[in-house]
Amino acid sequence: MDPYIQLLERIAQAAKLSQEEVERKVEAKRAKLSGLVSREGAAQIVAAELGVNFDKEQFTIAELPGVKRANFVAQILAIAPVRSYSKNGREGKVGNLTLGDASGTIRCVLWDTAHIGLVEQGTLHVGDTLEISNGMMRNGEVHLSSFADIKQSSMKLAGVQLTAIVSPKRIGELQPGMKAHVRAFIVQAFDPRYFEVCSECGKRLGEGGCAVHGQVTPKKRALLSLVLDDGTESCRAVLFQDQLLQLGLQEAEIYSLEAFLIKKASLLGEEHFFTGSFRQNTLYNTTEFMVDSIAPVVPVTLLASFQK
Ligand SMILES: [Zn+2]
Repeated sequence: MDPYIQLLERIAQAAKLSQEEVERKVEAKRAKLSGLVSREGAAQIVAAELGVNFDKEQFTIAELPGVKRANFVAQILAIAPVRSYSKNGREGKVGNLTLGDASGTIRCVLWDTAHIGLVEQGTLHVGDTLEISNGMMRNGEVHLSSFADIKQSSMKLAGVQLTAIVSPKRIGELQPGMKAHVRAFIVQAFDPRYFEVCSECGKRLGEGGCAVHGQVTPKKRALLSLVLDDGTESCRAVLFQDQLLQLGLQEAEIYSLEAFLIKKASLLGEEHFFTGSFRQNTLYNTTEFMVDSIAPVVPVTLLASFQK
């Protein structure tokens, strides 16, 4: 399910309102803030205003980018060696875990010496299930300070995603063939292009219908090209229907050019995390970023000032 819808549901339940009422409040909040916050960010503000407290609530990894306090259960997919650093004359250590559940994977950064000790002493193993509480979300990663807790859990998680461990990249560093996770602004959007797919298998239809299913009722699909920019460089990104829905477009806005043009004005300047693969388009001899998923950037400082 869409993590945003899940968030609306949680707020509605806790505040004893209908999901539609909560959604209306979120849209009103976004309008009031001139679209400066993501839907998830606005939902957090509305939750705080309604007195809904998620501090003890458990989330899935996919939901984490929209939360203030990260409480979740996940499996260890990778443990990086502890690194030492020195900053402003102070020495420190930092640990890194990659965690996964059925909804996705996330990087977990350890700052507390007790947590780092768990890695150095070999107490944590790949495959262990951990219960994390009080993590802070920053740039799409969970950061654990000394206020956070790591507990071994005997829970067995089903369907943990073991693939697609991608590290954050700058657009300027992208090379064809790379899987990447970038934080970037949408600086340009082209008009969507439409094509038809088989209603049975979802494959693109040729002249004589589907190669497997023959003449079928065609389903309309859309493709949208954007230009993303993160300050290092810009790149062309390609999105299909699923990603457009993640961007917050309604089907009507995807399939009606008129409605799209209205939505387009608000897309420009939006900042998100984009995950996908960078590849060479041999037909046009250009490079493009094929986006698999999009996650919101929640402006933490803005939230903090609204939640006082
Ligand atoms: Zn087919």
